[in-house]
Amino acid sequence: MQRRAETVALDTLDWPLLRSFGLDLRVRRDDALDPQLSGNKFYKLFFNLAEARALGHRQLASFGGAWSNHLHALAAAGKRYGFATLGLVRGERPATLSEMHRDAQDWGMKLHFLPRSQYPLPGDDLMQSLRESYGDFYLIPEGGSNRAGARGLVVLGQALEAQLAGDYDQVCLASGTGTSLAGVAAGLPPGKLALGFSVLKGEGDLGRQVDRCWRDLGAMGEHHHRLTNWRLMSGYHLGGYGRKLPIFVRHFWQDFEQQTGLRLDPVYTLKLFWGIAQLAQQGYWRPGTRLVAIHTGGLQGRRGFLADEKAWTFGKSPSDKRKG
Ligand SMILES: *Cc1c(COP(=O)(O)O)cnc(C)c1O
Repeated sequence: MQRRAETVALDTLDWPLLRSFGLDLRVRRDDALDPQLSGNKFYKLFFNLAEARALGHRQLASFGGAWSNHLHALAAAGKRYGFATLGLVRGERPATLSEMHRDAQDWGMKLHFLPRSQYPLPGDDLMQSLRESYGDFYLIPEGGSNRAGARGLVVLGQALEAQLAGDYDQVCLASGTGTSLAGVAAGLPPGKLALGFSVLKGEGDLGRQVDRCWRDLGAMGEHHHRLTNWRLMSGYHLGGYGRKLPIFVRHFWQDFEQQTGLRLDPVYTLKLFWGIAQLAQQGYWRPGTRLVAIHTGGLQGRRGFLADEKAWTFGKSPSDKRKG
């Protein structure tokens, strides 16, 4: 995995807005890692699968919603690496399954819909009955946000450093649970800062969670002496998780894709680049600052957004056109 992580492209982004502020932005293309198993979810699953295998499990289970990037990646990983998979989906079974669910089913995932009251922490009785119905499984928390998940992102941070050999200042990424932020920060050497752009409105104790996770990774050895090298950036969530986007943000999205040729997902990476644009305009970074943005993937989720927005006149990108 280390070697694979070091082959991910670091594209220089040709984005006039950032250039006008004298900022240098590279994008780490973890979205392009693999057609099915990409983005930060690949890294989060890696050590989870290793642990499941070491413990002798043959089935993996986890939680997610209708367009979950995590369940999508889990289904792909199960198929590729020989595990049965069980998706525990939030809410009632809909009349028609989402395209994400259909992909997951095609790759062999069984879907079990959980009442919202039991999600994502089903009670013991429900867990017992799930194991009776589906057989035993290795349970991965929602979003792959456990310690094994974070360890995968440490590898990403280390790979980035190895590729750039110190030739950057700050690393920006979108944050949901903050696991990726903690992991990447723990993988960077002293003096490099990771900025996590929170996609959630009212992030609660997210900072405390990131801190706990980051320290826990450090406790493995080399990082414990460090000053905190991560920051949580709030105010760029655009209304919160899966909310309707204001029209000016849609324009930003469309312009960004046309200018840079880089495709974004509406839930995570759009907010990252939106936040970067806002900070650049506010003069947050000195000219000459060398930034790296991690494209954490999630592009399968665009389908959900486009399906929900019948009136949405989003310009198709060249790669969409090719696919017809
Ligand atoms: C899950 C996800 C994230 C958030 O990762 P966390 O580790 O939960 O902060 C960011 N970007 C994309 C595309 C994701 O799918």
